[in-house]
Parts: sequence; C-alpha cells; structure tokens
Amino acid sequence: MKRDAYEVLGVPRDADERQIKKAFRSKARELHPDVNRHDADAEEKFKELAEAHEILSDPERRQVYDRYGHEGLSSRGFESPFQGFGSFSDVFDAFFGGAGDVFGGGGGGGAIQGGDVAVAVEITLEDAARDTQVDVEYDAVGLCEHCNGNAAEPGTPIRTCERCGGAGQLRAVTRTAFGQLVRNQACDVCGGDGKIPETPCTVCNGRGRQATRRKLTVDIPAGIADEQRIRLTGRGHAGERGGPPGDLYVLVRVAEDERFVRDGNDLVHVLDLPAPAAALGTSVTVPTLDGEETIQIAPGTQPGSVVTLRGQGMPSLRGRRRGDQRVLVNVMVPRNLSAEQREMLERFQETLGPHNLADDGERDSLFSRVRRAFG
Ligand SMILES: [Zn+2]
Ligand SMILES: [Zn+2]
Repeated sequence: MKRDAYEVLGVPRDADERQIKKAFRSKARELHPDVNRHDADAEEKFKELAEAHEILSDPERRQVYDRYGHEGLSSRGFESPFQGFGSFSDVFDAFFGGAGDVFGGGGGGGAIQGGDVAVAVEITLEDAARDTQVDVEYDAVGLCEHCNGNAAEPGTPIRTCERCGGAGQLRAVTRTAFGQLVRNQACDVCGGDGKIPETPCTVCNGRGRQATRRKLTVDIPAGIADEQRIRLTGRGHAGERGGPPGDLYVLVRVAEDERFVRDGNDLVHVLDLPAPAAALGTSVTVPTLDGEETIQIAPGTQPGSVVTLRGQGMPSLRGRRRGDQRVLVNVMVPRNLSAEQREMLERFQETLGPHNLADDGERDSLFSRVRRAFG
C-alpha cells in the first residue's frame, strides 16, 4: 500500500504549489545521501517523498490523483521517477539536477548555499532557568580535506567532461501519458561538476565532499521555552562552488519536571495539604528553583487557594523580571479512618456551625471560580 502523497509531504489537501515545493525541499534535506549513508530507510523514504512531489507538483497529475488515487495514475501510465537510476546518490543528484540544488541554489554552475542541519537537545527545567551550555554532535557535509574539495587525488590531473562539455547538466526528455517531460539532470558521467578527476580522491571517492561528525558547544539563554530553536549561522552543510554554508538549528526540549508545571514564565507547584492542616494553618516547605522555601498556610485555607512567590518563576528571555511561582493548595481529605478517628471526627462534626463554613467575606471561593470558568 502506497502512502497518501499529501501525508508523505505533510501538507494539507488544499496546499498551493509553493507549500508543496517548500515541504519537499525541507524533507529532502533531512534525507541527503551524504548524511544518511548508513540509513537504509533514507533511500526508500526519499523515493516516496520524490514521487509524492512529482504527483502533487503537476496540476494535471494532481487532479487525477485527487480523484482516482495512486491506481488512477498508474493506469494512466505514470511511473515513479526512479526507473533506471543507480545508487541513492545518483537518484538524489539526478532528481535535483545536481546535488546542491535541493539546498536552494539555482543549479547550472553557480554558487550554492549549503543545506541546514537540525539537531535536538534536552535540558532540565533548572538549566532552562539559567544560561547554560550543551554539547551537540551532528553530521554535516563539508569539503573533503584530503582533496580540498576538487575530488581528485592530490597531484593528479583533472580533465573537462566530454559528455556534457563541462556544463555539468544534461537535458533529459521523458515521454509520459501527460506529454513530454523535460528536465535538466546532472551529467551522469561527471555528476554535475563538468570536470573529471583522472584519479578520484581516495578519501571521498571523488565527491569532493564528505560528511563528518562535528562537535559544538551551544549557549542556551536563560528562560528558553520547550521546543524553541536556536539558529547557528554557517554551521550547517558546506556550500558548493564557493557558496556559503547552511545553518545549524538546535531544537531545545525542556524536560518535564515533576515538581513544577510551567505556565509561560510562571511555575505552578501543587501542594498536597491534609485537611486539618488547612483548617488550622501551618508552615510548609515547598521546592523552588532556588532551593526549598518555607511558606505560611493561613488557617481556613480552601482547596484551590494559591500562594504566590513573586519573582521565583522562570527568567524572561527578553531579560525582564522573572515570573512568579504559584503554589496551588490541594486539600487532602483523610481516608481509611480508624474507629477512633471516626469517632473524633463525628464529634467534631457535631460542633460545626454556619460560621465555620461561611466563606468569611472571601470573594474567591471555589464556587465563584467555577462560575467564572464555566459561566
Ligand atoms: Zn576528497
Ligand atoms: Zn559531465
């Protein structure tokens, strides 16, 4: 069963041409063969992606697909665009008319900017509350250091490709049920460079580029939120033919903290308090980002009451004052009473009068809050 083309590209059914192209490029980048050499799935994923793009980027084809699905296309002669290609790299290069094109360049010999790379890191809430650093490791395509990017074993000659005359591109014409399809493809002999080393570089196998493992220490500013991205300019894949490198995006995940729920720059801590303590009043210690802190619980504290610790929340990314920590009181009603406790509580209950249960002029009773929430 073939997956739905819209699902593969991750676009809505009414996506326009630009959305489709953009989705395709960004997904294709992640599957770049230089980075995914060891991932057997990457090739299949890329083929699936490219086919989905082929279908949705052609209005006629898309119409057929929308009405009749994959079957409708194959019965009208549409074939996956990969018949007759060799390795994954060939497929990738052929599809983009030169390996660099997917990274946003125009192809045809000009300078091409390198692609972006994304990595994810996870930090604790405490780390997110202060400036911190994390080490990241990632694979990025760079110039091969052995041949300095020119793909030839150092000291050996390089000649102009005869097949494409040095242009690096070939026109490919395919006949389909929808008419002629003309596409510029990278030259299959020189791979788009227009030049052929007589002795290919032994380190990069003549590609001139190579994925290497890179390590980097990244500064993470205090107050960062979960799922925010930090962009490091120029730390992505190397450019081609003198183009600038791409960027590195560090996706920061802030791990959940069992003590706090984050609400913007505020932190919410739930304090479990036995009912007698809530009635009598007490002092308790609660965790804060700065260590434990003792707070006073007033006599007659009601379920859902909030004690606010000003300025004890998360710092603001923009450097303004810190948020607050809100301590939300959860009054625990005792369970599993012994006979003795039960008797005491029954006696206690008989003594209760209306004044014990009045809301004491307190405007913010649970009922008024419920009314605000649902009214
Ligand atoms: Zn090399
Ligand atoms: Zn050539």
